[in-house]
Amino acid sequence: MTGTCDTYQRTINYLRISVTDRCNLRCVYCMPDGGIKLMSHLDILSYEEITTLVKAAAALGIDKVRLTGGEPLVRAGVSDLVKMIADIDTIKDISMTTNGMLLAKYAAELKEAGLGRVNISLDTLKPERFRQITRCGKLEDTLKGIDAAIEADLTPVKINMVVMAGVNDDEIIDFAKKTITDGWNVRFIEQMPVSAPGEEAAKLFSVKDMKLRIDPLGKMEPFKMSTGNGPAKYYKLPGAAGTIGFITPVTEHFCDQCNRLRLTADGKLRLCLLQEDEIDLREPLRSGASIEELKTLIKDAIGKKPKGHTLGEEGRHKGRPFSQVGG
Ligand code: SAM
Repeated sequence: MTGTCDTYQRTINYLRISVTDRCNLRCVYCMPDGGIKLMSHLDILSYEEITTLVKAAAALGIDKVRLTGGEPLVRAGVSDLVKMIADIDTIKDISMTTNGMLLAKYAAELKEAGLGRVNISLDTLKPERFRQITRCGKLEDTLKGIDAAIEADLTPVKINMVVMAGVNDDEIIDFAKKTITDGWNVRFIEQMPVSAPGEEAAKLFSVKDMKLRIDPLGKMEPFKMSTGNGPAKYYKLPGAAGTIGFITPVTEHFCDQCNRLRLTADGKLRLCLLQEDEIDLREPLRSGASIEELKTLIKDAIGKKPKGHTLGEEGRHKGRPFSQVGG
């Protein structure tokens, strides 16, 4: 595996890039109703600037890139960015995390540009509940997006469900059944207690409890996914073509395996999703720093990557919203 080793012997080879802080949904657990204060267009990195930073990171062994946001597909011409990154020889894997609302429109051109695969966020299969959780979205659009992604071979398509106690936990079994009936690859994610002023911290629905809900469908066998070396643990139900993954950001931290850096839409390198330390790359980039100089800044930043976070021990996370830092 390529990459740069950090202080804690982790090999860093994965960069998640928030291409915009804007989103076409307002999911209740992610954003306040009125949205967030948006960055100005001048603050946001251009595609050329992002590509220069990816080249510098690639020179340090980063070979996996994920585009996220905000909602990456609301930024105009994002397929051009995919192509620019795909043209960097040593980048082996380009993926995207999206809410899928615009995928039916863009799946084919993203594939053509060099996107390998997508993760699609979907928390309910009920149209009315979808509208409540996202405050404005239509379930049908995301379902069409999933079909389009499969059709365009952006595979494996992974469906990410954030399980919220008392909101959608009654649908865990329906999502698990989709791995049998439709061959979906579903990943169940523990909701992280992110701060939203004035709101109660969410009550945790743990992976342990999710497994109990799936129990009636039969014994899950561990399964090795061919793509991704992330934090999910995968299984298959009897007779399922698709897989079930579990992600435990709250009850079982995976910081000792963390191989990621994050680039925010405004050009800050973030070393941990849940810690606020950031290194500004935009200013040096705009002052004409060479790839070699940017590489040195990124290498120094890797040396400062923290050992881990304390989510679950300290209660809720306070800091920049996920939509700005590429959750
Ligand atoms: N707009 C894109 C999407 O919806 O996939 C990308 C950005 S969104 C911030 C990335 C992922 O973070 C989504 O799967 C979302 O469900 C997840 N997320 C946001 N807030 C979360 C929280 N408090 N706990 C767990 N996952 C969360």
